[in-house]
Amino acid sequence: MTTLYSEQDGFNSLVEASPMPTAIYKGMNMIISAANQAMLDLWGKTTHVIGMPLIEGVPELKNQPFLGILEEVFETGETYYSKESPADLVVDGTLQTFYFTFTYKPLKNDNGETIAIINTAAHLTELVAARKQIADTQERLTFALISAEIGTWDLDPINNIVNWDARCRELFGFAKDGEIKYGDVLSCIHQDDVEVVNKAVLQAIDPNAEGQYDIKYRTLSKENHILRWVHCKGKAYFNDDGIAYRFAGIAQDITNEIAADRREQQLLTLIDNNADHMTVADLKGNVIYMNKASRLMLGVDLAADVTKLSAKDFYTPNELDRVQNHIIKEIDPVKGWQGNISLLNFTTKDVIPCRVSYLLIKDPATGEVIGRGATARDLRPEISAKAEVEKMASIVGSSEDFCNYCDTNGNTVYINPSGRELIGISEENVPKSNLFDYHSDSSNEKIKNEILPLLFSKGRWSGELELIHQETKEIIPIHKQLYMIREEITNIPVAIAGIARDLRPELNVRKILADKNAALQSVVNELEFLANTVPSVVWTSGPDGNLDYINQRWFDQTGKSNEETLGARWMESVHPDDVSLAEKAWKISLETGAPYEIEFRCLDKFNNYRWYLVRAMPLKDAEGKIVKWYGTNNDVHHQKELEKQKDNFLGIASHELKTPVTSLKAYAQVMESMFKRSGDFKNADLLGKMNKQVDRLTNLISDLLDVTKINSGRLQFNNAEFDFNEMVEEVIEDVQRTSFKHIIKKELNFNKTIYGDRDRICQVVTNLLTNAVKYSPEANEVVIYTEDAHDIVKVCVQDYGIGISPDLQDHVFEQFYRVSGNREHTFPGLGLGLYISSEIVKRLGGKIWVNSVQGKGSTFGFTIPIMMD
Ligand code: ADP
Repeated sequence: MTTLYSEQDGFNSLVEASPMPTAIYKGMNMIISAANQAMLDLWGKTTHVIGMPLIEGVPELKNQPFLGILEEVFETGETYYSKESPADLVVDGTLQTFYFTFTYKPLKNDNGETIAIINTAAHLTELVAARKQIADTQERLTFALISAEIGTWDLDPINNIVNWDARCRELFGFAKDGEIKYGDVLSCIHQDDVEVVNKAVLQAIDPNAEGQYDIKYRTLSKENHILRWVHCKGKAYFNDDGIAYRFAGIAQDITNEIAADRREQQLLTLIDNNADHMTVADLKGNVIYMNKASRLMLGVDLAADVTKLSAKDFYTPNELDRVQNHIIKEIDPVKGWQGNISLLNFTTKDVIPCRVSYLLIKDPATGEVIGRGATARDLRPEISAKAEVEKMASIVGSSEDFCNYCDTNGNTVYINPSGRELIGISEENVPKSNLFDYHSDSSNEKIKNEILPLLFSKGRWSGELELIHQETKEIIPIHKQLYMIREEITNIPVAIAGIARDLRPELNVRKILADKNAALQSVVNELEFLANTVPSVVWTSGPDGNLDYINQRWFDQTGKSNEETLGARWMESVHPDDVSLAEKAWKISLETGAPYEIEFRCLDKFNNYRWYLVRAMPLKDAEGKIVKWYGTNNDVHHQKELEKQKDNFLGIASHELKTPVTSLKAYAQVMESMFKRSGDFKNADLLGKMNKQVDRLTNLISDLLDVTKINSGRLQFNNAEFDFNEMVEEVIEDVQRTSFKHIIKKELNFNKTIYGDRDRICQVVTNLLTNAVKYSPEANEVVIYTEDAHDIVKVCVQDYGIGISPDLQDHVFEQFYRVSGNREHTFPGLGLGLYISSEIVKRLGGKIWVNSVQGKGSTFGFTIPIMMD
């Protein structure tokens, strides 16, 4: 070290002792007169620079401002302070920038002239670098936050104040300035999310909890009602007392992200639920994605992780070879590849013919191919539909009906072989023909004006048309059905399909039928003529009883029209007193199928009622079901009149006869007793016989009178209670008295009184007993039984006489009926006894019957209710 003066030495030792880098520059040339080790280190120099001008010792300072500043300090004598200034220095052989805070302070002599400058410096490079780094980081962070649109927030939970940056304010819809309280924040949160946010915040600032905060929620700006999704993350800081003094974090607008997420979700849902089969694989053939339809078709469990599968598993070996070695190479980057491939069901190993489209998937950023997408359509339904169509086509082709197909203008597309034959057109002429070529003019008019409009509006038509044979020009009547065919999606009419039946065979049949009908009609006419010639009214009815035909005689007799008669209207002509009976009997016959036979009066065209005997019989089919009723009405009015006259006559005659016979009986009795008294027993006996004959005559007359009374409905009944047994005993006694040949045996088991007309019942028992005696001349025994059958008394009279043949048994109860035969005259009688008896029994509510074997005998029986209703 060069010593200038003692003062200088003092300085130098000061410099050396200084902990800070210090140097002294002397004179205008800035000779480094002193520099401590710290300064030398700073400069990266050794002590050899001491004594050199600064510019030589530290040559890199050239072109840096320091020398200029030093000169100025030297000249002005004013101290220069610099803060954190950079200086480029060669240290360790390389030029580096260092930062210093330094001072250039002039050292003056007593005259106040600057003689030297003392330079102290503090090395701040590390500090500056650290600060710069912080600033840079800060800047980068801010930049990142801004570019990521992330806002920061800082909550002071103690004072409840939130510090928000501009972005955060924007996200929550707050004004740019002004204080924000935590409550204000909550009010900007979507009401559905407030609770969950509040909870999350409270949990975050809870010292016992994790202190982490990570939540997504919606904000609703009060200002402009914009809804945003924000993602907030934060952390709470706690002091030693465990109180959160700070809760800070970031908020990010994730509205678009959420929307994108949703869109992606929707897209995925769409793809997943798409009916098309979609698969994505990477370039190595590993499956990445497979939608639901694809999984179902290819037999992959819906829950299975498809990334474990290889696309290879879904091809038949042949197809795999084709795909790997040909198709993959042929996939066009833009158009992809389309074609048919047989895929394989993973589970069932079924081969599925498919229409497949491959496309290359590129990285949107780089354009590099990263995978392959495939969509597949199961062709099986199409194949079976095609098979169906082919089947249909073969049916149509082989159909015997005329089938054709044309466009909406009538240009023929197809006519089946039967159709071509029907209209005489060759296959090659079919496409050249038009609907209007092979129909008759009248049919063409109809097609144009009527059928086509209907086809367009309603879609179908059917009816009769005429075809023209193209060669023979024969007109062929057909029954045609036409259908409009519409495009499936647009519903636009595209074609007309038709099917027709040749009507000629049918028309022939119709003609034959018409001829047969005409023949039948003439038979019907003849029958009707016949029906009209018979003297009776002839009619027919359905099984329901409604008249469907009646002959002319009815109209002649009644003057009624068809409408006034058919159905059930004939009843309007029936006498009001007879109508219910007629109707009832008709109903019974209709229900049971029993023949209908009844007499009733009908009004004739002169307004008089005439009696008719009406009979009807059912015609039954093979199963015995009634198909029709055939009936006749015979005019029995005259007969009835005669019967009436006869009854009148009989009434009058028997009445007139009764008086003289009664007198005759009285005289005969008187004379008999006179002869007996005079002892003329011979004459008395004769008169006794006469008396008996008069009794018979009286009985005959009384029978006749009874019949006339019955026929005119005047038969009187004097009902009273009486002892039945006693009455029977009396009759037995009377009859026994008339015949000594027969012994009347009795088995009387009925011992009650009954209510009825004693005389009339007595008349019945007498009649049966006398007949039994009369018609068993060879026998000597007759038996009478009585029996108590609950509320009924039953009487049977049995004889061992001539009997009655079975076919005649029913008739014996008819008026004047007598079993004819050579013995007719052997057994006198009028044939009235049984008739009267049956009428009496019927009137008393009982029944009468006969069981008889010809030549062996008969049993006649009757019942009567004990008490009449
Ligand atoms: P009548 O005896 O006066 O002829 P009825 O009315 O009593 O009349 O009998 C009718 C007919 O029935 C008789 O003519 C007879 O032919 C037959 N008849 C009645 N009772 C008997 C009987 N017990 N045995 C056989 N025939 C009988």
